[in-house]
Amino acid sequence: MKIDITSIVKNSGGTIQISEKESIEILGTGLGTVTFKGPVEFNGSVTNFNGMLLLEGVARLNYTTTCDRCGEDIEKEHVARIDEEIIERSRTVDEAEENLEDDRFAYSGNVLELDRILADSLITSIPMSHLCQDDCPGLCPLCGAKMKGESCDCSKQDPVDPRFEALKGFFD
Ligand SMILES: [Zn+2]
Ligand SMILES: [Zn+2]
Repeated sequence: MKIDITSIVKNSGGTIQISEKESIEILGTGLGTVTFKGPVEFNGSVTNFNGMLLLEGVARLNYTTTCDRCGEDIEKEHVARIDEEIIERSRTVDEAEENLEDDRFAYSGNVLELDRILADSLITSIPMSHLCQDDCPGLCPLCGAKMKGESCDCSKQDPVDPRFEALKGFFD
């Protein structure tokens, strides 16, 4: 996702509105149990503050995963707030040296490449646990059936206390 910043790069205070939808290859197919689906949508703006660019907005990405409790397939949208300072890559310092001193993103020339910035924010903010619904009841501990919707008959049967089971027939 490349943004042409020609109109603001020499203009402190200048802003460009951004509304883009594009696949980001470096996101790969997913992360752990999460599979990313379709393009990343970004809506926001980039503003030049004395040569530093401030990128603000919201990135959205659909993904599929499975419920931690019942294993059901779920499809969700991940929304990440983006608020990044992007500095101009100095031409005198080489990239390796620069990275040691400053972990901010950098731009050079008249093009701002958003892929890495959006991918980093999306990956670091994606939740590590997922539920099909907040109160997912999970699986039946006795038979393993999904408790949601079609519940099993286990809870309807009287559980037999094994101590009484042992005494059964004792007095016969
Ligand atoms: Zn569930
Ligand atoms: Zn059951």
